Amino acid sequence: MSSKIISAKDQIVAPPSTGLARSSDSPSSSASAADSATPLATNGTNGRSKAANLDGTGTSVAAALLASALQKFWGYSSFRPLQLEAMQSVMSDCDSLVLFPTGGGKSLCFQAPAVCRDGLAVVVSPLISLMKDQVDALNACGIRAAYLNSSISPSHEREVLADIRNGSLKIVYLAPERLLTDRTLELLSTVKLSLFAIDEAHCVSEWGHDFRPEYRGLSVLKRRFPEVSIHAYTATATETVRADIIRQLGFTNANVLVGSMDRPNLNYQMRRRQPGMGQILEVLNERKSESGIIYCISRKDVESTSAALNALGFFCLPYHAGLSAETRKQNQDSFLKEQCKIMVATVAFGMGIDKSNVRFVIHAAMPKSLEAYQQESGRAGRDGLDADCWLFHTAGDIVSWKRLVTESSSGVGLDAALAAISAVANFCNGQRCRHVALAAHFGESLAVSNCGACDICLSSNQADLVEDSVVLGQKIVSCVHRVEQRFGAEYVAQILTASSDQRILENGHDKLSTYGLLKSEHKKSVRHWIEELVGQNFLEKSGEFNVLKITYLGKQLLRGGAKPRLTKNTPSPITDQFRSGPSSSKANVISWEGVDRPLFEMLVKRRAEIAQQQNLPTHVVFSDHTLRDMARRRPSTLDAMYLISGVGKQKLEDFGNLFLSIISQQCKATGLAGDVKPIAAFARPVTTSAGPSKSALGAFPLFDQGLSISEVAAKLARAESTTGGYLSEYIRYHRITDATRWVDLDTIAKVKMAIDAVGAEAMKPIHVFLEEEIGYDKIKIVLECLANQSGEES
Ligand code: ADP
Ligand code: ZN
Repeated sequence: MSSKIISAKDQIVAPPSTGLARSSDSPSSSASAADSATPLATNGTNGRSKAANLDGTGTSVAAALLASALQKFWGYSSFRPLQLEAMQSVMSDCDSLVLFPTGGGKSLCFQAPAVCRDGLAVVVSPLISLMKDQVDALNACGIRAAYLNSSISPSHEREVLADIRNGSLKIVYLAPERLLTDRTLELLSTVKLSLFAIDEAHCVSEWGHDFRPEYRGLSVLKRRFPEVSIHAYTATATETVRADIIRQLGFTNANVLVGSMDRPNLNYQMRRRQPGMGQILEVLNERKSESGIIYCISRKDVESTSAALNALGFFCLPYHAGLSAETRKQNQDSFLKEQCKIMVATVAFGMGIDKSNVRFVIHAAMPKSLEAYQQESGRAGRDGLDADCWLFHTAGDIVSWKRLVTESSSGVGLDAALAAISAVANFCNGQRCRHVALAAHFGESLAVSNCGACDICLSSNQADLVEDSVVLGQKIVSCVHRVEQRFGAEYVAQILTASSDQRILENGHDKLSTYGLLKSEHKKSVRHWIEELVGQNFLEKSGEFNVLKITYLGKQLLRGGAKPRLTKNTPSPITDQFRSGPSSSKANVISWEGVDRPLFEMLVKRRAEIAQQQNLPTHVVFSDHTLRDMARRRPSTLDAMYLISGVGKQKLEDFGNLFLSIISQQCKATGLAGDVKPIAAFARPVTTSAGPSKSALGAFPLFDQGLSISEVAAKLARAESTTGGYLSEYIRYHRITDATRWVDLDTIAKVKMAIDAVGAEAMKPIHVFLEEEIGYDKIKIVLECLANQSGEES
C-alpha cells in the first residue's frame, strides 16, 4: 500500500487561519485552472502510476472541464482548498481518501467529476435523509441524479433502474446494504461506471466513532470492479481510522488529502451559565429570524427549554429520541424549510442534516467531549459564512456528565469517557484561543495570533480579568500545596474562604497559613478560579476524587514565573460581551458588507415560499451566501444575476426572475441603486496569520529568480493552482504593484476594463465579462497588484 498525503499546509491562498478566505471569491485554486496541476499521484504499484492516465495536458484539460462544470451547474467561480486536487484524483482514476471538515465541500469533490465524465457515479451514503437532500440539490442544479432506498415507491424504483440501464443518470445514491445485493452488483456490472464515492467513510472502520458493519462489505467493490476508482470522504478520521479505511477498501495507490479541520468562520463563545434563560434569549435576539440549534443534555431539558421559549414568543420545535419517528420527521422538515427556525434538541438531532445556513448553535450545557462539540458546533455555518457557537457551562455540568457516563458504562471505556469530560471542562475554562485549542486537541497546530472569532481573542480589553491574577493564582496554588495535594476543589475553596466546616476543623486546617486568605471573596468565585487554573494547566484533578495536584506550570506560578488569566466571577451582563462578541467577528463584518438587510430578509422570505411550494429544503434553492450577494449587488437583469456566486444556469432559469422581481421592487420603493459595483474594490480576505505561510516561503526564492508559475510548480512538485496561491502571497508580501512580470499588458488592460465595468470584489464577474477567455490565475495576479497599488494610495 502506498499513498501520497497532501495536507492543508500545501494550500496557500486560504490557509487554515484565514478569516473568510474560503469564500468563493478568494479561491485556493482558481476555477479556470486551465493550465493547472501536475499529476497528483506519481507513486504506483507495479511501477505504473494510475495517475499517468492523465498526462500534464490531461490534467489541464480536466481542470478546465471541472471549472466550467462548477460554474455552469453550481455557479461557483473557485475551488475550496484541496477541492481541485480531490477532483483530479477522480479524473485520473486514482483511489483517494479525502478528509475535510464539515462544510469543506466534500460533495462537490465527486459530484463535479461525475458530471464531467462518462458513465454513472455510484455514491454510498448511510443516511436516507441525506440522500434525498443531496439528490434534490443536484436536480435543482440541473444534474440528473436519483437514489435507491426503501423510501421510494416500486414504480419510482423501476424508473430509476431503467434510467441506470439506459445511461441517462449521472449519479445514483445507495445505502451499502442495497449496493451489495447481488441484483444491484450485477446491474452495475452491465453499465459504464465513472466512480465510486463512499460518503461518511469513517463508518468503514471499527475504530471510528460510528462503525457500521454493512460498510465492511464494501471491500468487495475493488474485486468486482477493478477498473473503477473508489473515493472515500469523511470529516473525522484519526490516523488509525484512515489506515483502516484504506485497508478495508483495498486501496493500493491512493491519494490521501487532508484539509485543515479548523473552521475560521465559526465564532466560538464560551460563558459561564447564569441561572434562567437570559443568555439564550440574548443570542436569539441578536440572531433574530435566523436559523439555529439549541442543544440540551436531556430530553427533559429540551422539553422545558422549548416550552419556555415558545411561551416567550420564539417559535421553536423540540427534537429528541423520545418523540415518535413521525414527529421527529415533521419537526426536522419544518426546520429545513424554515417554517420553524429554532430547533431545541438533544444530540440525537443533526446526523444527516446538511442545512447550510445554520447561523448559530447554542450548547445550553457542556457537551460530553470535544469530539462531540466539534461535530455539534460544526453544524453551524456550512456555507462558509459567519456563524456563532455559544457554549454555556457550569462546574455542575461536569458532575452531571460524570454521573451519566458512570451510570451508563459497564466499566469499559469509562476512563476514556471521564478523560473526555475533563478535556471539555479544561477547554471551557481555558484561556487559549478556542480555534487554536480545538485544533490542538485534534493534533493540528494553527499559526494564529488573533483569530478574531472567539471569546478569548475578541475580549481585547481586560475588563473581565481580575486585577492581579498572579497573586490570586499563587494564593490558591499554595493552599493546594499546604493541604499536601490531597483534597479536592470544594475543600480548598472552603479553606481559602475561612469556612468552619467540621472536617476542616478536625483536620486542623484552620491553622494553615492559607486559611481565610481569600475570605473577602465568595466561595463560588474561588471555585471558579480553581476551575480556570485547572483549565489553564496550573492545577490538575487526579483520581476518583478529583484531588487537586500542582502541575509543572503551577510550580512556575508559585515562583512568579508564569501568569494565569483569571476572570471576574460576576461577568458583565452578556449584552456587554456581545458588543465585543459575535457581531464584531471579522467574518461577520465582512460577510455583511454592502448587503441591504431589508432586501436580504425579503429574499429569505421568497426562498422559504419557493422551498415550501417545491417541497425542498431552503438551502437547496439558494444559500445564504448567494442571497447576501444578491442583496449586495442587486442585479437588474438575468445576465447580471448569473454573475452572482451560487447562481448556475439551471437555477438562473428556474428562480432568476422570481428573485429579480423582488430586487427591482425594493430598489424602486427605496431608491436603492441596482447593479451595484462592489464597494470594497480590491478587498482581500482578512488573514489572521502573521505573514506568508511556510510552504509559500519555500517558493519565494524561486519567484525571486524570476521563474514562472509553471517552472516553480515543476521544481516544487506542486500543482500550478497551488503555486499560483504561493505567488499571491509573494505579491502581497513584497507589495508588488506591477503585474507585467507574469501577465502581458494587453491582458492587464482587459482585466482593468472589466473591473471598471463590474467591480473588483469577485473574480467571477470579471471572468464572465471577459467572455471566460482570461483565466482566474491571471485575473488574480492583476487584482493582487492593484490591491497593492490602492494600498499605496491610501
Ligand atoms: P461537506 O460535505 O464537506 O460538509 P458540502 O459539500 O455540503 O460540505 O459543502 C458545504 C457548502 O459549501 C455547500 O453549500 C456547497 O454548495 C458549498 N460549496 C462547496 N464547494 C464550494 C465552492 N467551491 N465554492 C462555493 N461554495 C462551495
Ligand atoms: Zn481566538
